Order: sequence, then structure tokens, then C-alpha cells
Amino acid sequence: MESSGNQNPIMQDYAKQIDDYLHRLFPITRSITGGGNRETLRILQEVVPLEIKEYPSGQHVYDWVIPKEWNIKDAWIKNSKGEKIVDFKKNNLHLVSYSVPVHKKLMFSELKKHLHYREELPEAIPYRTTYYEETWGFCVSYNDLSASFNEKEEYEVYIDSSLANGSLSIGELLIQGKSSKEYLISTYICHPSMANDNLSGVVMTAFLAKELLKKKLNFSYRIIFVPETIGAIAYCANNEKAMKKIDCGFVATTVGGPGQLGYKQSFDKDHFIDRIIEQTFEENNKDYITYPFDIHGSDERQYSSPGFRINMATICKDRYYEYDYYHTSLDDLNFVKGATINYSLMLYLETISKLDKNITYKTQYPCEAMLSKYGLYPKAGGSLLPGDPKINNLETILWFLFYCDGKTDMFKISEKLNTDIECLYSISHKLEEKGVVVGI
Ligand code: ZN
Repeated sequence: MESSGNQNPIMQDYAKQIDDYLHRLFPITRSITGGGNRETLRILQEVVPLEIKEYPSGQHVYDWVIPKEWNIKDAWIKNSKGEKIVDFKKNNLHLVSYSVPVHKKLMFSELKKHLHYREELPEAIPYRTTYYEETWGFCVSYNDLSASFNEKEEYEVYIDSSLANGSLSIGELLIQGKSSKEYLISTYICHPSMANDNLSGVVMTAFLAKELLKKKLNFSYRIIFVPETIGAIAYCANNEKAMKKIDCGFVATTVGGPGQLGYKQSFDKDHFIDRIIEQTFEENNKDYITYPFDIHGSDERQYSSPGFRINMATICKDRYYEYDYYHTSLDDLNFVKGATINYSLMLYLETISKLDKNITYKTQYPCEAMLSKYGLYPKAGGSLLPGDPKINNLETILWFLFYCDGKTDMFKISEKLNTDIECLYSISHKLEEKGVVVGI
């Protein structure tokens, strides 16, 4: 287990608070719509002032329609002795999400068409959904299937769910920086009781927002909590103008597992967001897996579509698809710890700290500025030779001004000068205050 980021003063240690929120939020039944999502967002409002927005069922969002709202009170299967052998109240993964209401008796041969299990992971209850097909189902561990069901028996199934016109809920927080240019941070709230995918991403994003709210930021941040796919599409459709202006951001997901640190590249792997993430990992001496962009994955699929082309990257720890417990009941709070999420949060914040300094500057004067006027040039002219370590600062200023053409961003300049964007920023900030350069 890594330390929780105490080596870096960039943030306070939230491990304990994160653990508390994980425990409160874990049992809630979330889906693409429904009361569980609202309850989750309301709890997150204790951490940051999220605005909860509702998009109505039936609203057309590009090629999709926002579905009816799904809510669930209870679900179970009883055997012929009247014993509950599957109980939604014990684990919400037992019910296929979006199952229609049912109450009937049926033989095992009929019931088994509605049962899902994973033979190769016999103790795990799998996670299944049926958002766009009106059917029902239950998920059980293979061990329970073998122990509790038999071919000749009749079973009673009961699902007390409702599908009605309602709305799809999202959470939104806009953090205003000096520039109205925005970065996007998106996470998804549609998964029921599973910790790494994706309660870890949800809780980390809330604390990330909390930290960003404390800072004086150069850029603005659009932070959204949406159900995956339909929520991201609905958000894009309802905020098209703002979203079209965004160049890059993060999909925050699977940040709390015990396994390997990694990042999924954005569709343009040479984009500065990818390079800055790599730099952050390297500065922390971390081994990491690079997952190239592909069309599978999370909501980067929507944000990177031709209509938006936002370069979305993901820093993750035990990324979705990659760990054995993925989309099962074993992805629980034994698997995910607050300290691990706190560590991922530190990496996100360090990366964002660099992104926030990636300003593109333009010099105010067609030729070199008179640096001595601002106390930035040695008083005795000709006394220093290029390459002297004493004049490193002056050299950096001169090179920085040389590249300040209104096109080359700070990250690119820092790479050319083989320096860190944070160091360069202390110079650019001074020059901006003196009116020598202006951020564009
Ligand atoms: Zn998932």
C-alpha cells in the first residue's frame, strides 16, 4: 500500500473521510435513473455544492431517448418451502438492474433463463443490467446456484420495481477560474454496490472538487456526475455549446484497487494531458501501465466522439476490465480502501496543478522587453557569460520570452527548456504581473 500522499503538501489526507463516505454510499442501489442516484448526489452535496439537475424521461438526446425512471423496493426468490434463497435486500447485485415488476411461480427450467452467474468465479454475484430491453433477471453466485436450486423444484419470484415517467439525475459543479476556458472532469454514478467500479471514482471526484474549490485557479473546471453512456450523452445534448469549447479532461474511474497504477491515453496520445500525466507518474517514481485509447471504455467514448472531440484521459488503479473482481460482488470494501483513493486523488491533483499552469502567453512587445526596468536583468551588463549557472534564471526568462508567440503553450516551452512547468510558471507569473506577457 502506498503512503497516502503525505510526502506532498498539495492536499490534506482525506483517507478517513473517504472511507466514511465509501461505507455510506456503498449499499445504495444506483442505476441510470432512480432515487438511489439522487440520494448519492445529495450525500455528495455534503462534500461540495453540487447542483442536481434532472433531464425528463422521453427527452430526445441525439439518437437516444431518456428512459423511464426505474425504482426498486424489493426482490426475492423463494423455494417451494417458502424460504428466501435470493434476497435483493441482502445484496442489490442479486437483481438485474432495470428489471420489470414480476410476481409468479415457475419451474427451474423456466427460471434458469433469468439467472446469471459466473462459473469461473464461483463465490461472486455478477453485475448485470437490462436498460433497454423490458425483461427481468436475478444474479447469483455459482456456489449458491449449485447449493440452493434444483431442476425439479418450483420457485416463486417477486420483483417490486417501477418504471414510470420521471427523470435522469446528474450532478454538476462549475468552478470558475481566471480564464473561462474549461477542463472537464466526469465520473459515473450508475453502478450499485461495487467499490472500485465505480464508487471509488465518484468519491474521489467529490474530494477532488473540494480541493479545487480551495485554490486560486487559472482555468475553469466543469465537474459532472452522470450515469454512464445515456447520462454523458444527455449532458452533452443539454450543454452542447459549453461542451464543444472544451479541449481536454478526465474520466475519473476505478481509482481504488490494490493493483497496478495506470492511465488510459486520450485519443491523441501526444496531447499535453497525456504527457503531463506521464510526467506526474515519473516525478513520483511510479511504475504504471499505459492503456492506449480505444473505443471501448467509459464516457470518453461520448466526449471524444466527432461532435466533441474532447481529449479525455483516465488515471486509474486496477482499471475496469483488468481485475478479476470487475463487475462482481467481490469488488467490495475489502478490495478498495480510502487510503488508496486518497493516493489517486493526490496524483490527479498534481496533474491538474500542472494543467492549470499550461497557459499560452504572448509577449507584449515585438522585440525583447527591457528586463532591467523590471529588475529582471543583471545591472552590470556584459559581466555574465551564457551557460553560467548564476544566470540560469535569466536564461530561462530570455528563452521563455523567445517562445512566447501566442501559440506555444507553457508545457511545450517547459519541454523545450527541459524544465518543470511549475518552475517556469513562477517566471511567467512574474512577467505577467509586470505586463511583459499576457495569457491568451
Ligand atoms: Zn462498470
